[in-house]
Amino acid sequence: MQEQFLQQVRNRRTFAIISHPDAGKTTLTEKLLLYGGAIRLAGSVKSRRAQKHAVSDWMEIEKQRGISVTSSVLQFDYNGYCINILDTPGHQDFSEDTYRTLVAADSAVMVIDCAKGVEAQTKKLFQVCKMRGIPIFTFINKLDRAGKDPFELMEEIENVLGIRSYPMNWPIGTDGDFKGVYNRSKSQIEVFSEGKHGQTIVESVIGDVNDDVFQDLLGTNKHQQLMEEIELLDVAGDNFDLNKVLKGELTPVFFGSAMTNFGVRPFLEAFLEMTTPPTPRNSQYGEVDPESDNFTGFVFKIQANMNPAHRDRIAFIRICSGKFQKGMAVNHVRINKSIKLAQPQQFLAQDRVVVEEAYPGDIIGVHDPGIFNIGDTLCQDNSKIQYEGIPVFAPEHFAKVYAKDSMKRKQFLKGIEQLSEEGAIQVFKRPHVGVEELIVGVVGVLQFEVLQYRLEREYGVEIKMQTLSYKFIRWIEQEGFDFDRFSLTMDSLIVEDKEEKPVVLFENEWSIQKVEERNQGAVLKSILKKD
Ligand code: GDP
Repeated sequence: MQEQFLQQVRNRRTFAIISHPDAGKTTLTEKLLLYGGAIRLAGSVKSRRAQKHAVSDWMEIEKQRGISVTSSVLQFDYNGYCINILDTPGHQDFSEDTYRTLVAADSAVMVIDCAKGVEAQTKKLFQVCKMRGIPIFTFINKLDRAGKDPFELMEEIENVLGIRSYPMNWPIGTDGDFKGVYNRSKSQIEVFSEGKHGQTIVESVIGDVNDDVFQDLLGTNKHQQLMEEIELLDVAGDNFDLNKVLKGELTPVFFGSAMTNFGVRPFLEAFLEMTTPPTPRNSQYGEVDPESDNFTGFVFKIQANMNPAHRDRIAFIRICSGKFQKGMAVNHVRINKSIKLAQPQQFLAQDRVVVEEAYPGDIIGVHDPGIFNIGDTLCQDNSKIQYEGIPVFAPEHFAKVYAKDSMKRKQFLKGIEQLSEEGAIQVFKRPHVGVEELIVGVVGVLQFEVLQYRLEREYGVEIKMQTLSYKFIRWIEQEGFDFDRFSLTMDSLIVEDKEEKPVVLFENEWSIQKVEERNQGAVLKSILKKD
């Protein structure tokens, strides 16, 4: 029994994929599913996705803007591993959501388009990964097309992102003539056959780099060029160091084409070997061993109205230790109550299924009747264990928000409250004014659009927004704090957040300094670290 549990934990691999939109994240995810046998023919994810868009109309906004707003999670098996992939929003305006998803992941895969290199959103999302300190693996995609020189790409990763890199494999033939990859650790060449446009698993020939067969398969010129590049790589680059990879200081780089499947399997296999089983998470008692018996997990994401017809709200839980069983009672530590996790679901390939049991590293979605907050811990025993909080990012854009039709005030307040519980927006009130005047703060302006769109679609409320000129926010910590006695500048505003903590909004950094000087003993914080 115990053996079986340990095996389940040890074969789990949970990671997130990040990329600038269009780099190929969806295509790569689909190909990983194809190799895992979770789908038979590639191409089905896109069409399923299109269908989903059609039924789940709030995702319309994603379609219209060509961006991915929500993050989803998929599970499949490969070679004895049980893999959980967490998808993240590609747009930087949703980087807070990305951060929360990364909290649930043990590593990240960064997809880069070989023609475009490191793009704007890649940079921003990479920084978010870096904050988490998790291992980052790089898949340079679209090698079947003309792109930048591979050496140049490696340099770009190091210079623009500031992380050392180590090519695990090297492309053979570029600019529309991509034939295969060279595996550096095994000194092996893998040459792929032209397949059915990547719909099915691609066939290949693998052998030692010096095997004569590759002179024939690749032609003498290409083989010669590869030998020269291998030599260059060996003398010029960093040494491989798995410890550095696991600390997020060195990124292993793979080359391939998600579209044609060239290089997908070599990437997946090497990646699965290097990335870790579920890592221990920090609590007030220190690290919790994923292999301990006590079931624990935390809520990292809440999403309302995934299915507008049912008005359901789902809390996504990352399991950190112990075994989850359907119907089990757990302690909801924050509210100090024992609860049953209703309708636990898992997301297998593209289907939602009821989960009977789940293990550390897995993500389950449970029905949330409004009792969960992001960061809540659940545990089986009475230890009252509490995982480290998920920080709230500082919003950079603010607006006053009203319902156009005052008769719809109730729905308006409900919608605002639910969306703020999801972490999609942050809500502030003026002291002594209260809910009569709500100020909404967001990290990226696109979140305003999502707010407007979702309030209209899901709550039937049209809103008016008046953009404010504040750009900075500071949470105030001060002994004996008093709203009425706190000294401000002309261009700053004092408000309270949803937990009634005092917060000041500023137009510029100069004001922050002034307010700090005027209020002795007050500490102004730009990120609210929850504990
Ligand atoms: P995402 O926005 O990162 O999820 O990107 P998608 O997976 O939707 O891909 C964006 C576009 O690039 C689509 O038209 C894909 O067919 C195309 N694409 C993805 N991978 C490759 C690849 O390896 N080679 C080529 N030529 N096109 C690709």
